[in-house]
Amino acid sequence: MTPQAASVLELFRLRGAYLEGHFRLTSGLHSSQYLQSALVLQYPEAAEELGRRLASELRRLTRSPADLVVSPALGGLIIGHEVARALGARFLFTERDGPGRQMALRRGFQVERGQNAVVVEDVITTGGSTREVREVVEAAGARVLAAGSLIDRSGGQADIGVPRVALATLAVSTHDPDQCPLCAQGIPVVKPGSRPC
Ligand code: ZN
Repeated sequence: MTPQAASVLELFRLRGAYLEGHFRLTSGLHSSQYLQSALVLQYPEAAEELGRRLASELRRLTRSPADLVVSPALGGLIIGHEVARALGARFLFTERDGPGRQMALRRGFQVERGQNAVVVEDVITTGGSTREVREVVEAAGARVLAAGSLIDRSGGQADIGVPRVALATLAVSTHDPDQCPLCAQGIPVVKPGSRPC
């Protein structure tokens, strides 16, 4: 693990946003790790610092300046806004809308043809939301240069079709309760927070 990844996880750990143990997630699956980035991003100085670091990684990755940072609501709102501040870019967000619960740009957000965008999320798990945001932005005529997240919990596997960077990469494994190795060891299971990812 790089020193930067270690220090980002340490920031999460200090705020109770990254726990190790034996957890029951909202999906019902068990995991030895729990991430809740809202617990670190609730501190504006931590959010600002993480936004600066992610912006600098994105700058290194893209070379051309980004006009727009676009994030999926709700998870990407705070960190996307901080990255946009650090990049001197405009910040837009997508939300799920309509009967198909499709990602869309609402609220009068305008994207101009030929603008450069980066997509920012707090945590990437499968990359599904980031991919959807990318499609929305491209359909509006902008170019998506890259994507970034604070944490990649796919172990580097998520492919969203553009260069991607994360401040820390984790391989988070989840288990069915009846096949959970931690249950097998008799370790008590805990349900943390109200909305684990
Ligand atoms: Zn278990």
